[in-house]
Amino acid sequence: MDTVDLAVVGGGVIGALVAHEAVAAFPGLSVAVLERGLVGQGASSRSAGVHFPRGATERVRSMTEHSHRVWERLAAELDLPIREVAATVVATGAGDAVPTTYLRLGGETAPADPARGWAAPAGARAWTLDGCHYADVQAVTGRVLARLRDQVAVLEGAEVTALAAEDGHHRITLGQGQELLARRVVLAPGPWIAHPAWADLLAPLGLRVKKVVATHLESAPAPDAPLAVFHDEDAFLLPLHERGHYLFSYTCDRWDVAPDDLEPGLERSDLDDARAVLGRFAPGLAARCTSGRVFCDAYSPRREPVVAELRPGLVFAGAAGGSGYRLAPAIAAETVAALDLAPVRTLSQPPQRQS
Ligand SMILES: Cc1cc2nc3c(=O)[nH]c(=O)nc-3n(C[C@H](O)[C@H](O)[C@H](O)COP(=O)(O)OP(=O)(O)OC[C@H]3O[C@@H](n4cnc5c(N)ncnc54)[C@H](O)[C@@H]3O)c2cc1C
Repeated sequence: MDTVDLAVVGGGVIGALVAHEAVAAFPGLSVAVLERGLVGQGASSRSAGVHFPRGATERVRSMTEHSHRVWERLAAELDLPIREVAATVVATGAGDAVPTTYLRLGGETAPADPARGWAAPAGARAWTLDGCHYADVQAVTGRVLARLRDQVAVLEGAEVTALAAEDGHHRITLGQGQELLARRVVLAPGPWIAHPAWADLLAPLGLRVKKVVATHLESAPAPDAPLAVFHDEDAFLLPLHERGHYLFSYTCDRWDVAPDDLEPGLERSDLDDARAVLGRFAPGLAARCTSGRVFCDAYSPRREPVVAELRPGLVFAGAAGGSGYRLAPAIAAETVAALDLAPVRTLSQPPQRQS
């Protein structure tokens, strides 16, 4: 039976960043990433991939700062498909929370962009926001793991069906009957939190899975079109230049869905809901919401990512609640620190945890 120092269960963006961080911290470490499908094809494949520097709590703001720096560096080192974008934050309410929620906020600006076809209601306020980008998250995941292939075994089509503690190791059973022993395990299953192999272990964390929807607009963005973040609606309008259309993400409130049961396409109500929110800002563009992407993500009760030891040497990483791309580097840094693998040299110091 093969033995590895670290097994990472789940080849999404979080699993990939954990593997990257672990190898950077411990160059001689033997690592295996175990993915039931193909890497990057879970929630990561549907992601809008937006990074905006914001956080409702001190911990998430700190994770944002850390992740911002790491994405900047990895984008250059690995030539990742990441594109910087100018951004405007619009608050339809008083906007009091905006200055403390967003990092790299610029000055106030006009709460309308007639050239792009949207305008906020009377009384709204707007600010410019620096440091935003968007990424092709599936491609980023694949490229990060491709760079690690000489140090990390990436097993695809390898569903983990059982996890058992055994004499200071973890015995991992794969769908095809193969077994693996690991000194440490990171569980990064994205929204597959209810898998029988770990559902009981995760139950105390109180995680839930919510549907996430982003509609596509039949409208080609201008080359300098900014990202518009509608703060009070928790929605954003993103120019996807490479794909030649806008994406509109809004907050869908459908809870306790299962990733394998979700219909692949949009429901009529998804389009209606998206048009109702976007219609407040851009009635012309709202009518162009005709298609989109639907999946789901895991959320924690505190609406912050979770890095938690489930039993000695077995750490869960995820539940980033719709922010798993932008916070993945910080989640990975916290996870590798939590693995207690002896002298740690992380890529950079993990963000400070708040009690
Ligand atoms: C429509 C949409 C838009 C989004 N937009 C943004 C955004 O703009 N910005 C942002 O930061 N985040 C966004 N997100 C959230 C972000 O995409 C997720 O938080 C992130 O991709 C989660 O990464 P992950 O690695 O935890 O999960 P996943 O990418 O789902 O990876 C988990 C992997 O685990 C594998 N797995 C599951 N069970 C097993 C098993 N038993 N054995 C082996 N492997 C297993 C799965 O096959 C999967 O590949 C969006 C999500 C959606 C759905």
